[in-house]
Amino acid sequence: MKPIPVTCLLAAIFGWLSPVQGASRERPPNLIVIMTDDQGYADVGFNGCKDIPTPNIDSIASNGVKFTDGYVSYAVCSPSRAGFLTGRYQQRFGHERNPRWAPENRECGLPLSESTLADTLGKVGYKTGLIGKWHLGCHPDLHPLKRGFNEFFGHLGGGHRYFPEELTLQHTEQAKSSSESDSYKLWIMRDQTPVKTTKYLTDEFSDEASRFIKRHKAGPFFLYLAYNAPHSPLQASEKYLARFPDIKNEKRRTYAAMVSAVDDGVGQVLSKLRELGIDKNTMVVFLSDNGGPPDNASNNGPLRGGKGSPWEGGIRVPFAAQWPDQIPKGLVYRNPVISLDIFATIAAQAKAPVDAARPLDGVNLIPYLTGVNSGAPHDAIYLRMFDKGAYVVRRCVQKLVIDAKDSAPQLYNLKEDLGETKNLASSAASELEALDQKRLSWNAQLVPPAFEGLETKKTGGKAKVK
Ligand code: CA
Repeated sequence: MKPIPVTCLLAAIFGWLSPVQGASRERPPNLIVIMTDDQGYADVGFNGCKDIPTPNIDSIASNGVKFTDGYVSYAVCSPSRAGFLTGRYQQRFGHERNPRWAPENRECGLPLSESTLADTLGKVGYKTGLIGKWHLGCHPDLHPLKRGFNEFFGHLGGGHRYFPEELTLQHTEQAKSSSESDSYKLWIMRDQTPVKTTKYLTDEFSDEASRFIKRHKAGPFFLYLAYNAPHSPLQASEKYLARFPDIKNEKRRTYAAMVSAVDDGVGQVLSKLRELGIDKNTMVVFLSDNGGPPDNASNNGPLRGGKGSPWEGGIRVPFAAQWPDQIPKGLVYRNPVISLDIFATIAAQAKAPVDAARPLDGVNLIPYLTGVNSGAPHDAIYLRMFDKGAYVVRRCVQKLVIDAKDSAPQLYNLKEDLGETKNLASSAASELEALDQKRLSWNAQLVPPAFEGLETKKTGGKAKVK
């Protein structure tokens, strides 16, 4: 195996522009995290997408930074969101499965032992709002308003139907326990109250986001805009479908329309920030919660595998951020970063105290993006998928993968083999052993899953990750 390239050990910063001068540090920045659901790595223009124009999403990357190697902390929805929102590997507190729809069960969701980014920012005066998908528990004690958010407009479950006429269940208790499909039909909630909506759901969320920003323009605020698009069911309105007459595959056409609707929403958010004159002091992060699955016609490009797998297609996602006051424009950052870094980054900027009993796994990325720190933010990035017995250790260009219970560790060089096709285990035994030691010491810090998952319930306890 070739030695580790120098670029990994030094500042792997390309397209460098000088750090932004004269940035105002008097007022803490606003934060908007736009998270899509099940969007493929190659389904944004900034990662090479050709058939779905995403000019607004792309503008975040061109006005700030594109992360080529941006990871999430899990390959399916809920654990990934638990990691992002706590800034910690969620395997530390047992959030390692998608919770089933169980309003009667307060264990089925983000453990109450954990505090969220909304809790943390709320303590230093931020107004906090969640618009869109929660998926961190539907028991009343786990409601977003109990987890640090001042405002909520969205749905509690793992997905939702998009057309207002299909939202036929008004009250949470009308969705039968364990019925995901029922939960998809519930009315949208404003705080604790179900409200009748009238528009295509993605548009509802975008309009609400604009209103939130306007309401809280005096700042500081944290808006978590969690689109359920383009997660199944594949549903798009004619307005967006009409943009893709040339895509013949109906699934892909609908998926494209759904992504296009999100892109319009991102444009709406960005222009609202400009209109109010608060764009320069607002950090906007865009990412997907996991890689694209096969069932929604998403595209992970050159990456192997997809949602639910420990291969790159499961955990490496479209990931970009802008913050004109701090992040140099047009940066392409190639060192691995992870969604957990968002918490650490904003907490540092907002000078928000972090609970010493729950140390963050993320890193404040700003010194790395401004060139103050030329090293890599992470010694390694980790993944465990308990039910599957899968593990990942990503360190510089190397990646250890265990893809199934009791399987032998495999080793890949992602710089030379992005598609993870050549297992180097036999020719680089000592490197592999070093990564495996890291895996074992990290794994020793984790706990088993704390609640029954959607998949474990479906299969009678036999693990099946979807
Ligand atoms: Ca997802």
